[in-house]
Amino acid sequence: MPELPEVEVCRLGITPHILNQKVSNVVVRHKQLRWPIPEEVHSVVGHEVLSIKRRSKYLLIEFSHGTLLIHLGMSGTIRVIAANTPVAKHDHFDLAFTHQKALRFNDPRRFGAVLWFAEHKDEQGLLAKLGPEPLSENFSHGYLFQKAKNRKVPIKTFLMSNPIVVGVGNIYANEALFKAGILPASLAGTLSEQRLNTLTDIIKKVLNDAIEQGGTTLKDFTQADGRPGYFAQKLQVYGRAGKKCFVCQEILEEIRQANRSSVFCPNCQTE
Ligand SMILES: [Zn+2]
Repeated sequence: MPELPEVEVCRLGITPHILNQKVSNVVVRHKQLRWPIPEEVHSVVGHEVLSIKRRSKYLLIEFSHGTLLIHLGMSGTIRVIAANTPVAKHDHFDLAFTHQKALRFNDPRRFGAVLWFAEHKDEQGLLAKLGPEPLSENFSHGYLFQKAKNRKVPIKTFLMSNPIVVGVGNIYANEALFKAGILPASLAGTLSEQRLNTLTDIIKKVLNDAIEQGGTTLKDFTQADGRPGYFAQKLQVYGRAGKKCFVCQEILEEIRQANRSSVFCPNCQTE
């Protein structure tokens, strides 16, 4: 599943190809994604892309009269290809441009979304309840401590809660807690401000490192095959239950939290 770094790399990958380009056509081949693609998406024909932003895992393609939102869901990919490239299975949506290229959205499982915010208004409130971006200044020292006060929720579940901070998915929550030496089951409200500040710095670092690593895949966004925006990363704990810790050789353990797998080192993670 694409997480924040993949979506950010996707944004970086498509931006140079579609920024300031004028839409010549919109093609909806399969309307029924997570929500139906609204008719209003056709209103972008003749308009230029003014910016491509990201909020949490939503890509926001902005035009003068509204915003086209794309979410990759579980299995979605987008790429910018020659507009006449033959259509493949699961190619549900195209934004074609006057420079003969098209942004093409492919999603086998169809949990992704293409929506339209007229006048940039988020009528469904998709973005309204989201917490701060982890790479922004709003997510800084003191913030997690403030939010965690008196909270009896496990720190991992807390980190993965969108009203607290967005975009820290299961992989990055596991990895950041390992690097911070914090057990995933520790209750958020019991951790010191210093530990939570360290955790804040580490979350930023693991996400930035992943984005940097994804930079090697930027060329994939203009190729018709492959899986642009999905990149293999060197992970310390995620997916390694039962294997040896790279740091201390202890066997990594696994627990289930909120229906998600948490893997940790009982030696390196102490609190
Ligand atoms: Zn260890």
